[in-house]
Amino acid sequence: MLASKWMEGPGRMRIGVDICNTIANVNAEILRSYDVSLEVYPFPELPAGFFSTPEGLTLLARAKPLAGAVEVLKNYALHGHEIIYITSRPVIAANITREWLAVHGFPRGSIVFLPRGYKKVFATHYGIGLFFEDDPIEAAGLQEAVGQVYMPAWPYNRNVRERYIQRFTSWKDMQNHSDCHLRLRMVL
Ligand SMILES: [Mg+2]
Repeated sequence: MLASKWMEGPGRMRIGVDICNTIANVNAEILRSYDVSLEVYPFPELPAGFFSTPEGLTLLARAKPLAGAVEVLKNYALHGHEIIYITSRPVIAANITREWLAVHGFPRGSIVFLPRGYKKVFATHYGIGLFFEDDPIEAAGLQEAVGQVYMPAWPYNRNVRERYIQRFTSWKDMQNHSDCHLRLRMVL
């Protein structure tokens, strides 16, 4: 259960949401065209800067949402929580990302582009209380800064064992957690 210090005003919370492989199944698109093992992240099989190339940007645009993510995030937003999308995508992907979120029905929210490794600093200063993140390095830093990190399960994060990180296999399972947070709001 989240401590009241993470709540922004009565029952309101700032929720950080990573995009790639947290709400967008970019891995599925990569696997269509590349021989990637998914055991190490970021993938050594892809060249540096790949997602700034036309091919990489097309792949981001084609990714499908992970099932259930829209519903869970909408539920938070409907109850007054602030959603902030925080991604390590290149800034050149800004328009693609904004359109992708809108087309797939994700709740409105700021989109922040940060180099890998900077999410903890941002989350600390912005007062984020809950974060959805698949990257093991980012998540390890974030769990020191925010109340709770929820981590979609992928092979490359299977060995993550941190006190405030909880892995989950399906966004549909997260619906119960979001209901729990919403009940917390009622108590406060
Ligand atoms: Mg990610």
